[in-house]
Amino acid sequence: MSLVACEQNTPELSNTPSNVSQQQSATMILPSLPPSQTRALVNDDASATPFPTNTPMGCETNLEERQVHYALSATLDWNTKQMGVLQTVTYRNDSDTVIHELVFYVEPRRLQGVMQFRSALDEAGNEIPNIEFDGWRLSVPLPERLFPNCSAKISLLFNLNIGPYSSTNPIGWLSYTDRQVNIGHWFPTVGLYGYQMPGVWYTPRMHFIGEQSITVLADYDLQLSVQNAPANLTLAAPGIITQTEPAKWQIEFNGGRELAMSLSTTFEKITTSVDDVLIELYYYPREDTRETGLNPAARAILDAEQAFKLYNENFSPYPHNRLVIVEGDFPDGMEFSGIVFVSEAWFRTWNGRVNDWLTIITVHEIAHQWWYSLIGTNQGQTPYLDEALATYSELLYYQAYYPEFVEWWWNFRVYTYLSEDKVDATVYDYSSWRPYINAVYLRGCLMFQALRETLGDEIFLAWLADYARLYSGHIASSQDFWSVLSPTNYDRVATIRQQYLKEADILPPALTNRTPIAPLGN
Ligand SMILES: [Zn+2]
Repeated sequence: MSLVACEQNTPELSNTPSNVSQQQSATMILPSLPPSQTRALVNDDASATPFPTNTPMGCETNLEERQVHYALSATLDWNTKQMGVLQTVTYRNDSDTVIHELVFYVEPRRLQGVMQFRSALDEAGNEIPNIEFDGWRLSVPLPERLFPNCSAKISLLFNLNIGPYSSTNPIGWLSYTDRQVNIGHWFPTVGLYGYQMPGVWYTPRMHFIGEQSITVLADYDLQLSVQNAPANLTLAAPGIITQTEPAKWQIEFNGGRELAMSLSTTFEKITTSVDDVLIELYYYPREDTRETGLNPAARAILDAEQAFKLYNENFSPYPHNRLVIVEGDFPDGMEFSGIVFVSEAWFRTWNGRVNDWLTIITVHEIAHQWWYSLIGTNQGQTPYLDEALATYSELLYYQAYYPEFVEWWWNFRVYTYLSEDKVDATVYDYSSWRPYINAVYLRGCLMFQALRETLGDEIFLAWLADYARLYSGHIASSQDFWSVLSPTNYDRVATIRQQYLKEADILPPALTNRTPIAPLGN
């Protein structure tokens, strides 16, 4: 997410107590359950507590396969903007302990009344009892114990009431306006087992500042159908899209942190391609273009092309064959894997120049394809690892293509909002957006600039490239980021770490005296 000057509306978080199926509004025709095809799990009593077993219960596993696969079947009623969803989750136990339950982070519960959870089903379609909601954390007991290397498959049934975008419903990526329906962060995502403590499921604490979701890369197969669909409905989504009928699509998207999309009847599309990656911009034509001669879509697609090229060459290879940009009917911008939203406000208010928000936000969201998507991080605990890097990537863009505007960028973007707060703050340290942005996004850039001036361009840029290369596809921590620096260079920036970080000595002694990682550059 990129944030400018405005204070974000902070929605009242829904922490409704756990009740499985709230009162139903219009009942949705839910798609039928797929035939069961999971590998049979060894029968055992579910009450056993998780414990290491040295007798793997015979699951050959192919680690090439993604640990998590989501098969989603969703039916959206265009008139009511309600969506019925059947989500089948296949999860492989990559730990060495036995797992008894699957635990999910449920972003759609960020706002009250959006999600109506119906039930969890086992492979045979039987309802799984004793599921538990704790705010946005959903625990589903597994019918059988899940041994290391084995996979389990369960299904979740729920309805979504997608509300109109407004000050009381400011989640632009899961709302509708008179011309688009945005569907992002719309289904439960599997938590991280053993992330902070062995044998314990981790789901982030929801907060109304910044983002919190942390997900492994997963594969997605979505069947989307729209009931009462208007004519010329266009779907903007990442991955391989097959339109099977006028308002029916199949979407296959591999290796994403999330699967988001947008629907509209008035999208126009402009495309370009870089290194065999198709970049598509879905935007709205402007009546005034003829008078003003301004064509913001042309500006945005050029910035997207150039930024993509710069980051793809200097960070690490982008893993998908398409990148989608949507002119979004909500403020600022928002990143998802393979698709990003750039606010309609930046198109509407574009002043014809490259030194303007349209360029800043477009390249910022594209940089998130690396700092958030390819290299995952804990967005709540270490937001600087995606937000400060995405914001600093804006500077790298101006330096590469429009160096005459570098000074403007510093004044306009950073020096206007100086902060003394520490860069490695968490989102939970803040209760309002502005000081959070100033510290994490913007002071983060001052920290990177100080590091770059001390280490030199070559070492600094190689650091980013090494980090991107080494942690592509993974979830990186602050320690991972700093440990890519050689011990010598890590020591050379000690004062900068003290100046900008709460945890200046981020690396334990063992890591500071280590042999340097075979770096590309430093
Ligand atoms: Zn951002």
